[in-house]
Amino acid sequence: MNRIAFAIVVAFALLALSTALPPSDEMLREAEKSLFTPDEISIGLQRSWQSRLLMWGSQATHLVLLLVLVFTPLGRRLVDRLEQWTGRRWLLTVLLAGLAFFLADAITSFPWQLARWQWNLSWDLSNQTLLPWLRDYAVGQGILAVVEGVLLVGWFALIRWLPRAWWLIGAAMATMFGVVSAFLLPLVIAPLFNTFTPLRDTEWAKLEPRIRKLLNEAKVPINDIFVVDASKQSNHSNAYFTGFGSSRRIVLYDTLLKDHPADEIESILAHELGHWLHDHIAKGLLLGGIASAVGLYLLRRILLLSLHRGPLDLMAQHDPASLFLFMMLVWIGSWIAMPIQNAVSRHFERQADWSSLELAHDADAFIRAERRLAVRNKGNLTPSRWNVWLFASHPPAIERIRMAQMWQGNRRM
Ligand SMILES: [Zn+2]
Repeated sequence: MNRIAFAIVVAFALLALSTALPPSDEMLREAEKSLFTPDEISIGLQRSWQSRLLMWGSQATHLVLLLVLVFTPLGRRLVDRLEQWTGRRWLLTVLLAGLAFFLADAITSFPWQLARWQWNLSWDLSNQTLLPWLRDYAVGQGILAVVEGVLLVGWFALIRWLPRAWWLIGAAMATMFGVVSAFLLPLVIAPLFNTFTPLRDTEWAKLEPRIRKLLNEAKVPINDIFVVDASKQSNHSNAYFTGFGSSRRIVLYDTLLKDHPADEIESILAHELGHWLHDHIAKGLLLGGIASAVGLYLLRRILLLSLHRGPLDLMAQHDPASLFLFMMLVWIGSWIAMPIQNAVSRHFERQADWSSLELAHDADAFIRAERRLAVRNKGNLTPSRWNVWLFASHPPAIERIRMAQMWQGNRRM
């Protein structure tokens, strides 16, 4: 068993090291050609390097917690102790084991979260003071605890009562859960953190006629574009398409509206309309459903293979101690799924970019907006190909700019 733990640690360390590779010279030349100054390029490189350090640090902490619970006798002992307390009441033991894991994870990850908040302040990307940040953090953890508690009980109940088919039913239920949460996210969850105001009731109401025209051309049935007071938490600017069915909506950051001229806002909004027209959220949920079926099937195979072995010494699939093994496998699975998920996301983003150009017919505004967003958000303008493949949910700014130039070239021909 300890050989497996060793292999996981080596794979993790190699992966972390591989992401430290610098970008190619070709990329650097390309970035300078794309209107970025050497200063902007070096800020992006510096920041992404620090961001990766924080990310690997917190991931390593999480990994240590998982390895200790799975590969040392500690996890087994903890669950045995809980079983004594609960008088072997199975579901209660599962819940308490889940709570213990949640608390251990929350406590060990807290310093990293705090460090990331401080780091964002130091880069002038956040202006949130400690108390409001703590409040947001506590609300987030509270929601997470409730959601994870419900999922945990549902999951273990399925495994116990349907030991053969739980992976399939579980995947179907996970997909449904995804649909429901996508629907509720803009209506219930997001308002806990921010205020959303229809554009026409904001100081940017004068943009409304231009935006209406764009919406009519795109034939998107939409009542309101919302403005979020994102400046409360950060100086990032962004826009996004969210929701499912009747809760679908486009949200613009107030920081975006403050920063960009009208034609650039139009171009960014047209990108979000592209997501809408291509049904990217529904497609993403469908793909997620397929992926969860594959993932849960593999999870079940591995779980059956590891019964009565190693320090965890699982009695059955529904042994409460299998929670720790689940968590580790889900963590490993999410690393494996990440590049695939990001490749799909980048494909969606390219489609939305293309729609933006086709709807707003303004490559110059697109390029200016792209440039301004990248510089403002201090993004990495020259990520290595490997890091893009692993981590990037969006194509690099220079690639998006190149696409707009190509679109423009095609039109001139
Ligand atoms: Zn997008």
